[in-house]
Amino acid sequence: MGYLILVAIVASFGWWRLSLRLWPYAPCRWCGGRKGNNVGSSRSRWGNCSRCGGKGKRLRWGAHGQ
Ligand SMILES: [Zn+2]
Repeated sequence: MGYLILVAIVASFGWWRLSLRLWPYAPCRWCGGRKGNNVGSSRSRWGNCSRCGGKGKRLRWGAHGQ
């Protein structure tokens, strides 16, 4: 039983590393991946998203980018 858990952990870790290489970017959590203007709930959030700079994507945790 412990061996199966170990295999599952290693397999999920391997898949996570592979997915980081295939898709290093994920939609920005703050603007939801919208490009350009950020439709914020408050007036101060209008304009480019401060988190991704209006790109609409963020580097996933563990990815190193280009
Ligand atoms: Zn954003």
